[in-house]
Amino acid sequence: MLTMHRTHLRSLLSEPRGLRLILLKRAGRNFFKSISDSYVKSLDDLPIAALRSGIGIVDIVRESLNRMVVRIYECVSCFASPPIGTTMCDFEAGFLEAAMEKLFGRNRVVETRCWGLGYSFCEFEIEFLW
Ligand SMILES: [Zn+2]
Repeated sequence: MLTMHRTHLRSLLSEPRGLRLILLKRAGRNFFKSISDSYVKSLDDLPIAALRSGIGIVDIVRESLNRMVVRIYECVSCFASPPIGTTMCDFEAGFLEAAMEKLFGRNRVVETRCWGLGYSFCEFEIEFLW
C-alpha cells in the first residue's frame, strides 16, 4: 500500500494546493468510512484503527472543549520524506476529520507540522465547529 499511496501522492503534489486539498481530504474521509468507521466507537479506538489501516502511529497530544491536537508518527504519506516547504498529509487530515465527525461532530482539521516542513512527525489541529 505504501508505495502505491506515495506514487499517487507525488503525482498530486504538482496540482494546485486547493485542488490537492479537496481530493486528498475526500479520499482520506472515504478511506476512514470504508476501513475504520465500524470499528471506531470512542477516541481510544482511533490510534488502533489508524495503526491497523496503515495510516501511522496516532497520539492525542492535547484536548480541550473545542480543539484537539493530534500527532501522527511514521505517517504513511510523508514519513522520512525530505522537506519540500509544504505539508503533505491532507489524506490523513481527511481520515482524522471523518473520525472526529463520527465521534464528536463537525470539525476542521489542518496539518501544521509535517516531514514536508522539516519535522519528524505530523501534527494536526482540529477545531470543532459547534
Ligand atoms: Zn505530514
